[in-house]
Amino acid sequence: MLNDNTAVVTGGSRGIGRAIAVKLAGLGADIAIIATRDSDRAQDTIKTIEDMGRKARLYVCDISDIEAVNNAVSQIITDFGGIDILINNAGITKDKLLMQMNEEDISDVIDVNLKGSMYVTKACLRNFVRKRHGRIVNISSVVGLMGNAGQVNYSASKAGIIGFTKSVAREYASKGITCNAIAPGFICTDMTDKMPKEAIDAMLDNIPCKRYGKPEEVAHLAAFLVSDEASYITGEVIKIDGGMYI
Ligand code: NAP
Repeated sequence: MLNDNTAVVTGGSRGIGRAIAVKLAGLGADIAIIATRDSDRAQDTIKTIEDMGRKARLYVCDISDIEAVNNAVSQIITDFGGIDILINNAGITKDKLLMQMNEEDISDVIDVNLKGSMYVTKACLRNFVRKRHGRIVNISSVVGLMGNAGQVNYSASKAGIIGFTKSVAREYASKGITCNAIAPGFICTDMTDKMPKEAIDAMLDNIPCKRYGKPEEVAHLAAFLVSDEASYITGEVIKIDGGMYI
């Protein structure tokens, strides 16, 4: 289904990004992964994709650094011959009550989650416009829709992703480029592993499906949004949260 496509997956070394990278590779895409470091997890993801018969490369880049992003995306275009799909998935948390948050807690989360996604998208757009085709999927969060105590910085960054998604969708729809957001609820990854147990238990009480989500479930949705079948869907925000925020 995605043969001859190249997908860039930010934060594709582990968690949701890894699941999306592996899913898209399974559908025939070659994969460029962006992550902050050349870790064992990143290498394992690369090897998994190569074992599936697809091309995979890791680009070490902090997406909050616009110069580094521009260099990484240029290198990806040189190495792969172009980009068809962008998954803006990389993200961080620095959870605290607002009263305890310092300037760095706020700016780091906004810089990576929101500004970083804009930098990578901006760097890929000329290539999409030239092809008159592109698929952008931004990973937001249900907390960007509903808010969450202890996550003022994070939920603001994820709400920002929604405005960013809708605006990019409006600017580039006529060029054959779609831009949608996925808003996951609680998905088991390293990010949720570091949450306090009481917070995790309290969250389960509020999930009608009475279980947490899996990265692979988010990956299925991303695969649909980048497919030809989804070519008339743009500017949408699709929740995948077991009913956490209805
Ligand atoms: P994760 O397991 O913590 O993985 C984060 C990924 O982002 C890693 O690949 C990491 O690279 C990369 N990354 C972090 N900062 C970066 C930076 N400055 N530049 C480039 N890459 C960076 O996270 P996850 O749970 O899979 O979450 C993925 C996305 O889904 C995030 O945007 C998150 O906000 C969103 N989300 C998650 C949940 C959930 O319940 N897990 C719910 C809603 C939304 P390294 O390996 O190099 O560190």
